[in-house]
Amino acid sequence: MTQMAHDGSPLMMLASEPMVLVSFWKPLIPLVILGVWGWIVSTVLDKHAARFFLNRERWGAIHLTMGFVAFAGAFLMPMAGLVSFIAGVGFMVSVLVANVIIYVTMTGKDERVPAQHRLGWNVFKSMQEKKAAKAEEKKQGTVKLTIKGPNEKGQPTVLVPAPLAESPEFAVRTASEDLYLKAMVSRASQVDVLPSGKDQSYQASMLVDGVRVAGDTMPAQNAFKIIDFWKACAKLDVADRRKRLVGDIVIEQSGNKKKVRLTSVGVPGGMRLTMLFDPDTSVLRKPAELGFLEPQMAEMQELVNQTVTKNDDDKPIRGVVLLAGQPDGGRTTMMLSVLQMHDAYTQSVQSLEMEIQGTLEGVRHQAFDATAEGADFGTTVRSILRRDPDVLGVAEMPDATTAQMVAKNDHDRTRVYLCVKADSAMEAIEKYVQAVGDPALASKGLRGVVVGKLVRKLCTNCRVGYPPAPDMLKKMGVGDAKVQQLFKKGGQVLIKNKPEVCPTCGGGGYLGQEGVLEVFILDDEAREAVAQNNMAAVKAAIKKRGLPSLQVAAVQKAIKGITSVEEMQRVFAAKSAAPAQAAPAKA
Ligand SMILES: [Zn+2]
Repeated sequence: MTQMAHDGSPLMMLASEPMVLVSFWKPLIPLVILGVWGWIVSTVLDKHAARFFLNRERWGAIHLTMGFVAFAGAFLMPMAGLVSFIAGVGFMVSVLVANVIIYVTMTGKDERVPAQHRLGWNVFKSMQEKKAAKAEEKKQGTVKLTIKGPNEKGQPTVLVPAPLAESPEFAVRTASEDLYLKAMVSRASQVDVLPSGKDQSYQASMLVDGVRVAGDTMPAQNAFKIIDFWKACAKLDVADRRKRLVGDIVIEQSGNKKKVRLTSVGVPGGMRLTMLFDPDTSVLRKPAELGFLEPQMAEMQELVNQTVTKNDDDKPIRGVVLLAGQPDGGRTTMMLSVLQMHDAYTQSVQSLEMEIQGTLEGVRHQAFDATAEGADFGTTVRSILRRDPDVLGVAEMPDATTAQMVAKNDHDRTRVYLCVKADSAMEAIEKYVQAVGDPALASKGLRGVVVGKLVRKLCTNCRVGYPPAPDMLKKMGVGDAKVQQLFKKGGQVLIKNKPEVCPTCGGGGYLGQEGVLEVFILDDEAREAVAQNNMAAVKAAIKKRGLPSLQVAAVQKAIKGITSVEEMQRVFAAKSAAPAQAAPAKA
């Protein structure tokens, strides 16, 4: 076959060429070279042109033309001998190299391309750098959470990078993530890390449906590292271990995003870190979802409607309503729910809180600034009342001044909801009267009392029904009612006839909380009894209204299967210190 190629005629030479090339390795070389050139053009040159908005089509045409010339040149040259073959390949290589050099020199002068992005040997340098960066990435430890801290504007957008694997920082990160992950598994709303009080150790604890659950114990030095890690995420001053610092971050875990409010403060024996999950939404609840029974909701609506003028001759009756509960027993939620019952668009609705948790549309929330000079809670209440809001929610009654300011206020102008730490209506009234120091003054504007406690709701997926013993029903005050079934917590369900941990509640048997409430309006008779400081008469007046008491409301929720008798007993056993019995001194 090769002999035929030695035929002298140029025509024959052309015709015989394919036959020559069948020598198997020869065509591979130009093809490989063409392939390398094609790779450079498509992965480097074309991308570079697209990136800096150079004339990509024109460059494409130039590459194509030169590529064709090189290809044609190589294959049309006489390839019979080794010399002509090398010449052909040499021609091809020079055309292709020229193509690349033309691109590099031309674009190197183009002003659209920033100096550091002009091509040259740095193309290979930048590729090396990319490789190095990839290797670095591999060295970084695998983290489970995406943590974002605040930018200059306070928006949580700045990613907290994963530390290198096998570094001490990585161990801290893993331990800190563990704290969060365990809280998520337990459906906790809050996690605290604080000194345990023994052996210099620290203890983590969680709040699950309002109940404290103990977490891991750890040496102080580890706890400090974890606390400092979370503080650094929120850009809080890690060196400050005394002052109260608050910052927000966002944590994402497989698509599940949570806002986390971090609070650190110095406590006896060290410091305390609190992580509050989704602080805005967890505290907000619509009035209808708070847990009022039907007659209670009607009474509540009437109490709210008193503040609205019905016609020109009517005067609104605003005055004071006490909201009684425990600070972490959903009292803030109760106050924000009641504020929602007022129309914040036609009325000025405001609040004064120790710390703003959730915000309502149209409501002006104010946080008490304890660091402001000369400020105490009572005088802050007074200065807000001077601006005549229609409705004001006061989240605390930390001093007598607060109660006095509220009692002395113009009761036609402002409806004040005053939160009082108390377990019953009577206790709330007694505490308020005592703080005001004058029963007659305290009684003047007093319009109503709402008492609230939170009970855990039974998980409906695994709760267990049982026929109640007659004794128990008697104790609950429903001895005569026909109650066929009550429920207690389960925690397990049968999956394919095998008992397994309930997937809905994670085995705890409870899921979420609901309010148990008591509400009533004070009529003239009840107010007169308060003015006389005759608490027995107050009690009788309340009873006359015939609304469900706190206990009755709780029993009704147990009968409906919303909560258990055991949970009721737990909540009602946790009474605060007995109310002070001493009568307030007459002013
Ligand atoms: Zn369950």
